[in-house]
Amino acid sequence: MTATRRYFLYCRTCGDTRAHEIKALRHRTQALFAALTLGLWLPGWLVLTLQGRRPRCRACGTRRALPKTRVSAAKTPPRNRVRVPGPLNDAA
Ligand SMILES: [Zn+2]
Repeated sequence: MTATRRYFLYCRTCGDTRAHEIKALRHRTQALFAALTLGLWLPGWLVLTLQGRRPRCRACGTRRALPKTRVSAAKTPPRNRVRVPGPLNDAA
């Protein structure tokens, strides 16, 4: 019933950037299920919707708020942009 979205966000518990996941509900499926159960599923749907808004760290399981700025869902971790001192960088 869910689709997973992955973000790379800073985790305070881990102290580093980690993969975070949000299990996005498929509301069309939820609506169908609510109709089939004659509305009995509506509270469950509401609880799942409110829970699923906060991304969870895959390493430690801590939930955090989504940042205010829009973060694009990424499939690969961001590359570390570390400038390695060496003959090419020092030549300038
Ligand atoms: Zn973490």
